Amino acid sequence: MKLRLYNSLTREKEIFKPIKDGEAGIYTCGPTVYTYAHIGNMRTYVFEDILARSLKLFGCGVKRVMNITDVGHLVSDADEGEDKMEVGARREGKSARDIAKFYTEAFFKDYKALNCLMPDALCPATEYIKEMTELVLALEKKGFTYRTGDGIYFDTSKLPDYGKLAGKSHIEGIKEGARVGVNAEKRNPCDFALWKFSPPGGKRQMEWPSPWGTGFPGWHIECSAMAMKHLGETIDIHCGGEDHVAIHHTNEIAQSEAATGKPFANYWLHGRFLVMGDSGKMAKSAGEFLTVSMLPEKGYAPLAYRYYCFLTHYRKQLEFTWEALDASARALTALRELTARLMDELSKKGPPPPAEVNSAGFLKFTEALADDLNIPQALAALWGAVRNPALSPAEKLAFIRIADEVLALDLMKTPAPALELAPELMALVREREAARKNRDFKKSDELRKALFEKGVAVEDTPAGSRWKLV
Ligand code: AMP
Ligand code: ZN
Repeated sequence: MKLRLYNSLTREKEIFKPIKDGEAGIYTCGPTVYTYAHIGNMRTYVFEDILARSLKLFGCGVKRVMNITDVGHLVSDADEGEDKMEVGARREGKSARDIAKFYTEAFFKDYKALNCLMPDALCPATEYIKEMTELVLALEKKGFTYRTGDGIYFDTSKLPDYGKLAGKSHIEGIKEGARVGVNAEKRNPCDFALWKFSPPGGKRQMEWPSPWGTGFPGWHIECSAMAMKHLGETIDIHCGGEDHVAIHHTNEIAQSEAATGKPFANYWLHGRFLVMGDSGKMAKSAGEFLTVSMLPEKGYAPLAYRYYCFLTHYRKQLEFTWEALDASARALTALRELTARLMDELSKKGPPPPAEVNSAGFLKFTEALADDLNIPQALAALWGAVRNPALSPAEKLAFIRIADEVLALDLMKTPAPALELAPELMALVREREAARKNRDFKKSDELRKALFEKGVAVEDTPAGSRWKLV
């Protein structure tokens, strides 16, 4: 089966054809590790995980590279303001390196809790200063750079197709909207920093010597340098969230293609944002946000959030509500219980599940994935099959097992044996359920927290509250 992916560069769904037969090189923009990653960020990583897992299901090997931005991402996209890492360091009274270490670990804890596969190469920007410097030198040699008082900049007017990813009208909009005087030395509004100098007379926590003076790399250059080092001058797939189209990925393309004269990536995939129902965007800079690690203390398994991400296609905006997370948690539990019953039936009688599945339902599942990773439809095909009385338990289980290689919802993991809850804790569960029925959500939330502190996570279902030990 041929996998078709929507390419943001050509604005069309295209059949995916890797440069090297049977192996896809994927570059993923990773986190800026100055604070926790929120569940919105994680939606993008779940979509990228589905991409990698689907490629594998279709028989294509995957080599995945992800950067860790631990220097150079400034507060403003116009290459102005403080380095986000230094903002984090000041906020917590730690060194930028300690901040990077702490939040990198926190990120991968959440990443793994969502069953996302680890990349083959993880690249902290601070370990690629040499590669970035070499790339800037190559651009300098070809005449694409110029020097200002605060750094070395890329001259976007020298590249005729600058902005092709975002589209001409978008780039014109940026030019018109550019604030006058932000950086009067920039030749064109879209020009961007490749290397920034440390402030005159000042010392940054993170700075390196370079042919142009002591300083630090611009944010965009890291991804170009790492992607090309690990995946070659032209890579198969580059992906990230929709916010990266206009500036970050546009500038990655510009500097990479100017340096090599070759296309940087053949397919560009972008996931749309998760937004909060009432407050709109979920943003790291807003300070208040939800992380995957916070979910268990609110009574939800991280994988319930993974399931949540499957409710909407990755190219559509997904709105977060607690009600919908409740529904996802219930659906996941139901699917797990169904699987457990099938496994139970099969262990008592009947043949083991076949290694392959050929049912029409499974074809629908793979066709949905092949159509630009349409996970909502693939999931619907799985539900259709497990409820289909015409399929044997063995066939259903074989479907579930293969589907879970992509869904990664741990469907085949045996559920924990039922346990008795101590009477005083059970009383709290009941009290909470009563509060919820009376719409006293403040009390029910307090009781949920109190139970969690005692090691019991509660979740609400139409049939009442469920609890589990955490
Ligand atoms: P950052 O750490 O801010 O560089 O972002 C890490 C990844 O999360 C990038 O691919 C972003 O495009 C993506 N991202 C940021 N905010 C959201 C959101 N609300 N929903 C989905 N993805 C997001
Ligand atoms: Zn990037």
